[in-house]
Amino acid sequence: MTTLLTLNAGSSSIKFSLFAAESLREEARGQVESIGGSAVLTLKAAQGKTETQVSAPDHGAAARAILAALMPLLEGRPVIGVGHRVVHGGAERSAPTLVTEAVLAELAALEPLAPLHQPYNLAGIRGAAQAFPDAAQVVCFDTAFHRAKPALQDVHALPQPYRDTLRRFGFHGLSYTHITEELARTAPDLHAGRVVVLHLGNGASACAIHNGQPVTTTMGFSALDGLCMGTRPGQIDPGAILYLIREEGLDAAQLEDLLYRKSGLLGLSGISNDMRALLEDGSAEAELAVDYFCSRIARETGALAAAMGGLDGVVFTGGIGENAPDIRARAMAGLGFLGLDVDGAANAAGAPDIGAGPARILVVPTDEERVIARATAELCRGD
Ligand code: ADP
Repeated sequence: MTTLLTLNAGSSSIKFSLFAAESLREEARGQVESIGGSAVLTLKAAQGKTETQVSAPDHGAAARAILAALMPLLEGRPVIGVGHRVVHGGAERSAPTLVTEAVLAELAALEPLAPLHQPYNLAGIRGAAQAFPDAAQVVCFDTAFHRAKPALQDVHALPQPYRDTLRRFGFHGLSYTHITEELARTAPDLHAGRVVVLHLGNGASACAIHNGQPVTTTMGFSALDGLCMGTRPGQIDPGAILYLIREEGLDAAQLEDLLYRKSGLLGLSGISNDMRALLEDGSAEAELAVDYFCSRIARETGALAAAMGGLDGVVFTGGIGENAPDIRARAMAGLGFLGLDVDGAANAAGAPDIGAGPARILVVPTDEERVIARATAELCRGD
């Protein structure tokens, strides 16, 4: 009996899940938060939930703290593989891969493309390699799913050399992989058709998928484009950015702060980036933010349907997509012309199938950790 670990490393946190390697049964999950500060490790397992102060000045120490916390659950079983969520695999990587020095160097070269995520993903890999020296390290990319989309959907209308550099990579690919596999298993007719998957969490994107293959997606070169998100605006006229630079004197760091941390639901409402808080608040500002969020979903759903020449169904996933019936209903309200009609009772009851029109509407929980765990198991076995 052996085990696998999945890690999702951010700037100051590492989320982890422990799986039995053979059955892929998830045995525990948790996170280390405030790495570099007064770090806290949260662990949820069959025995319940614990929170412990740990010493984690860096990602390596955090990975060792995770190992120490999991030790009683391992009961002598070795951790044979550690699978990492990595935001960027570049233009070529279309599948998970084993980590080598050459792969690490390739991924480090991509840091400028995702400066807020990639360096921390790599810090997580290096930390895990220290804490779990006998385990295979596997990287799974958020961009990989989208590499199979048509070349036309991979470009901006820019001249060379920018056309080759500024590709429309797309993100949230591990979530789209899971949803596609779930559709193949539970709704094969829909899987064979044209589907818009709406991944609505703190980050949000939508993806057009035809017969299990990616067609196009709302995120592009970075994770800023497309839908309105918790703290990111989504689609914005590039002329507005030029104006902010020229007339308001904003520099790159200030723009990064504005576009990644201060905009979206938080910026529009001035209240919160958290959808639950906005729905409870109910003020005019909160309503404006929620209305904009929903209107962007409707508009992108229509655009993605057009990119596929029609639509057989929509899938909601992510924290908001899975848990907020109001948002699902409001986002679909004007899309009857696409055959999308929400069954109010099924939606309110949290049913998995909430469509009442010719196009299906499903709610499917995402599970990026399982996608990583399975890929890690396969690469550890040499499949
Ligand atoms: P991340 O992108 O960080 O993984 P999640 O997928 O966990 O984020 O989604 C977080 C979002 O889901 C938050 O805006 C949160 O308010 C929202 N959410 C979670 N549960 C509910 C709920 N019951 N009703 C409305 N929104 C919810």
